[in-house]
Amino acid sequence: MALMITERCTVCDACVPACQNNAIKKDFPKYVIDPKKCTECVGVDDEPQCKLVCTVDCIVSDPQWIETKEDLLAKFHRLHS
Ligand code: SF4
Ligand code: SF4
Repeated sequence: MALMITERCTVCDACVPACQNNAIKKDFPKYVIDPKKCTECVGVDDEPQCKLVCTVDCIVSDPQWIETKEDLLAKFHRLHS
């Protein structure tokens, strides 16, 4: 399941460098996660790194993008092949 950023985002920029998949971009008035690039950090880390650095806890699971861990790992390999 990809993650998404809610309206509570303060546009602090902390999550952007934390994403190894380059999935987070500014889309005024907040940041957004590209679900085609977000693997929930599967392939690189044990837990979502953007959530760890977000001080306002505004990054949540995106119910529109239900994926298994295998799906996420396959996405990771596609992105980094
Ligand atoms: Fe990037 Fe990982 Fe956050 Fe997805 S969960 S946006 S891959 S840092
Ligand atoms: Fe927004 Fe959180 Fe990312 Fe900061 S770390 S830009 S508050 S989503």
